[in-house]
Amino acid sequence: MPFKDRPAVAVIAGAGPAGLTAALELLRRSDITPIVFESDSQVGGISKTVNYRGNRMDLGGHRFFSKSEWVMRWWQEILPVAEGQTDADKALRINYQQKTHDLIPEVFGPASSDAVMLVRQRLSRIFYRRRFFDYPLKLNASTVRNMGLVETLRIGLSYSQAQVLQRSPENSLEDFFVNRFGDRLYRTFFKDYTEKVWGVPCQEISAEWGAQRIKGLSVTKAITHAVASRFRSSTDTYQKQTETSLIERFLYPKLGPGQMWEEVARQIAARGGKIHLQHRIVGIERKDQEITAVVVKDETSGAVQTVPCEFFISTMPVRDLTAMLEPTDDRVIRIADRLPYRDFMTAGLLLRKMKSTEGRAASNGMPPDNWIYIQEPDVKIGRLQVFNNWSPALVADPDTIWLGLEYFCREGDDLWSLDNGKFLDFAATELEKIGMIDRKDVLDGTVVRVPKAYPAYFGEYREFEKVRAYLDRFANLYPVGRNGMHRYNNQDHSMLAANSAVSSILQFGAGKTDIWDINAEDDYHEEIDEVA
Ligand SMILES: Cc1cc2nc3c(=O)[nH]c(=O)nc-3n(C[C@H](O)[C@H](O)[C@H](O)COP(=O)(O)OP(=O)(O)OC[C@H]3O[C@@H](n4cnc5c(N)ncnc54)[C@H](O)[C@@H]3O)c2cc1C
Repeated sequence: MPFKDRPAVAVIAGAGPAGLTAALELLRRSDITPIVFESDSQVGGISKTVNYRGNRMDLGGHRFFSKSEWVMRWWQEILPVAEGQTDADKALRINYQQKTHDLIPEVFGPASSDAVMLVRQRLSRIFYRRRFFDYPLKLNASTVRNMGLVETLRIGLSYSQAQVLQRSPENSLEDFFVNRFGDRLYRTFFKDYTEKVWGVPCQEISAEWGAQRIKGLSVTKAITHAVASRFRSSTDTYQKQTETSLIERFLYPKLGPGQMWEEVARQIAARGGKIHLQHRIVGIERKDQEITAVVVKDETSGAVQTVPCEFFISTMPVRDLTAMLEPTDDRVIRIADRLPYRDFMTAGLLLRKMKSTEGRAASNGMPPDNWIYIQEPDVKIGRLQVFNNWSPALVADPDTIWLGLEYFCREGDDLWSLDNGKFLDFAATELEKIGMIDRKDVLDGTVVRVPKAYPAYFGEYREFEKVRAYLDRFANLYPVGRNGMHRYNNQDHSMLAANSAVSSILQFGAGKTDIWDINAEDDYHEEIDEVA
């Protein structure tokens, strides 16, 4: 598709999964030159891997799983699954939230290579009252033992009350939880954690949010399941099959999620695409409803340049994009400017050993979980990642434990503003307080801040359609990705949106508005907010 006296250029804002997928697909399917500008010093966006003295940190714990066959194959073309990771029939059976995805990989990578993906089995439990609970929460002997008989009965009573006296109308997330689980279970397992995550009282979050995110979970189901399993023999093959199919498995690059995107970036460069790190897009030039160029600032030298383009694919926050387009309608500016986000901080802590003595812990006290939901109300930590259990290759010294302590916060709040030393100190003190570590076993640590980690769906988001309609007016503008579309999504959704944008560009704009219909809500989520 030549334009004027040179091949057409697509400028791409952001080298996260969306931006890099768009760049590689443009190179694979057209002669349009992608030029990617990334403000960070490395690629991968939120899905990057941070390398701290040989210990690799995944900002959040990224499972590679998609219902989309296209995405699953795309990933494996970049990084094949390592030999020996699949079942005997060579099938790659990925189970996630009771959905199964079967793939027979076309090629395998050598087990000894670093450039491969592993198949991981999920374990993530809830830590509450200084004890481990199953996730999803099950009505079984261990839960009753952990909760105590009296408390379990109280929860049951409160649940029965809620069934008789339903809150109506069901306006808030609190109403939603109480109607389904009873006040006591809501206060025990949902309230504090949800508020920790979103920083907003559950009364201020809409009930639809719960309906969207906490599908298929009910106490009745849990009770029916618990009672039914009492009547099934332990050798019941149906039961065994069901349980096996519920074990969640997902793919994971051996060196963390960023490895996928570093390899994609390498392939983009090899095919002639350009990726400029530490270059921030700071302005947009347009002629009526057409983007003609972007203004880019080199973050290291401060130099500013104007780069002409025929297409602009933006994965930067909707707020920034809209401001740069300078709409004349004040409402559009106001809504975009006030779109809510939740920010995120993570402390990487390297330890000699942990203190856990429960049956499943290793001899050095390391729990077997990939991650643990911390439901303790007396600490601020939200989740604890055990990186050793994602991939042993993330950890420089196999005799150490490499943890990620995740905090949900607001950019600029007290936690965010702590200097790194104080934050590490605070995080280690919290883990000691809940009895997981002894601070003298901490060997090293680092801090990563992730602004706008979670685009949120409350407040001004209610009027998002007006912003979307405004952005849709620009024929050669393609907003895609997590913050690019203000979608609480996963990598696969960002990639599908980017791929659709490329298809639309190649079809002279056909299907452009359908990109918004790619469904993020039906997909699995990273489950920061739900005990489901
Ligand atoms: C805690 C956590 C856990 C998660 N777990 C999973 C999981 O298990 N599985 C999964 O698939 N997904 C998971 N995700 C989601 C995943 O991280 C995102 O879906 C994915 O990274 C989104 O890709 P993106 O390219 O749309 O956006 P991003 O990753 O946000 O990338 C956007 C890029 O644009 C750059 N940028 C922004 N503004 C500018 C500008 N003006 N100029 C130049 N560059 C700019 C940014 O620096 C960034 O690199 C998780 C997310 C979080 C926060």
